[in-house]
Amino acid sequence: MKLLEYEAKEIFANYGIPIPEGVVINEPEEMMMHLPRLGSDVVLKAQVDVGGRGKAGGILVVKNADAPATARELFGRTIKGVPVEKILVEEKLAIEHEYYLSITVDRSSKQVMILFADTGGVDIEETARNDPEAVRRAIVSPLLANIPTFQLRSLLGGAAKEIAPVISRLYRAFMERDALLAEINPLVTTPDGVYAADAKLIIDDNALARQGISVNRDLTEREKEAEKHGFSYVELQGTIGVIGNGAGLTMATLDLIEQYEGRAANFLDVGGGAGRERVAHAVRLVGGMPGVSVIVVNLLGGITRCDEVAQGILDAGVAQQVIVRLAGTNETEGRRILEQHGYRMLETMEEAVRAAVEASS
Ligand code: GDP
Ligand code: MN
Repeated sequence: MKLLEYEAKEIFANYGIPIPEGVVINEPEEMMMHLPRLGSDVVLKAQVDVGGRGKAGGILVVKNADAPATARELFGRTIKGVPVEKILVEEKLAIEHEYYLSITVDRSSKQVMILFADTGGVDIEETARNDPEAVRRAIVSPLLANIPTFQLRSLLGGAAKEIAPVISRLYRAFMERDALLAEINPLVTTPDGVYAADAKLIIDDNALARQGISVNRDLTEREKEAEKHGFSYVELQGTIGVIGNGAGLTMATLDLIEQYEGRAANFLDVGGGAGRERVAHAVRLVGGMPGVSVIVVNLLGGITRCDEVAQGILDAGVAQQVIVRLAGTNETEGRRILEQHGYRMLETMEEAVRAAVEASS
């Protein structure tokens, strides 16, 4: 997943890489209280997921006083077909020199590849074509926590010394954030030091869960909760809450509800080996959905222990009636626990679903 510039900058800043003073806004008014600290000239940067924003009119340098009006115009525009919904407003840097820095996975050597060029700001391909000497490369073992000093030195060449720590910090960010690409183009020198004027970060999609990034940014609170617990969860329109283990069994439960002319409120697969706490979370989650009048729990014990499941259902303590079908490991114990507390335990999923449909109508 490719992050937007301001998101990447936030992460880089957390690793100690200097970024310009700035603020990200959704409408022009939001910049007002920040303008005084941004200096006499500011840069408006459209936060759109396209390359070459500068050339496409997505980067505008304006006088501080003109920033709100220009931002209003920029919000109305599209950059290469993408509407501008966020703008990063930054102090204008007094750039002395622009460098290029990127870290990627080199697929052929299966190592980390760092590129550094004395001429940044433009396409690296163009630089490589016009001035091959300007692009330096280092291949670093991903097992290393830091870039070896000799490699850092050869990357830098004659470039400003204060750039070295930026390369090391970007390397740490790249490794720790499971990135496929971390790029600063341009990395600039100014009288006040080095800054990441632009930032690009692509996180490996396989690592999104580990990085705590949700793929769909418009999830409901319950969907986020489900994702946190690793449930497969989909909200539907009906009144019967559904909890199963395994996608197949859960789907079969939904099919049966349909067959008995009931309407399911959701699909929730708690996954394999669900313990007491997971089950409690699942039942609470479904019980919290508006419009759910009854919950059917259809679980097959294997690694999942029925007594754990029963305890989880009790722990959840939801207001709705919970109808349970449990079969498998420790089934008798699970049944005893639930029946003791007045829950309905049914032998087959047909019976359980039929009871749920009746209770829902
Ligand atoms: P991109 O075109 O999407 O890569 O956007 P960049 O953030 O890289 O901006 C493009 C160019 O705008 C940079 O190469 C710089 O030359 C210029 N630029 C960006 N920010 C600043 C700034 O704060 N000060 C100055 N003087 N130029 C900037
Ligand atoms: Mn750039």
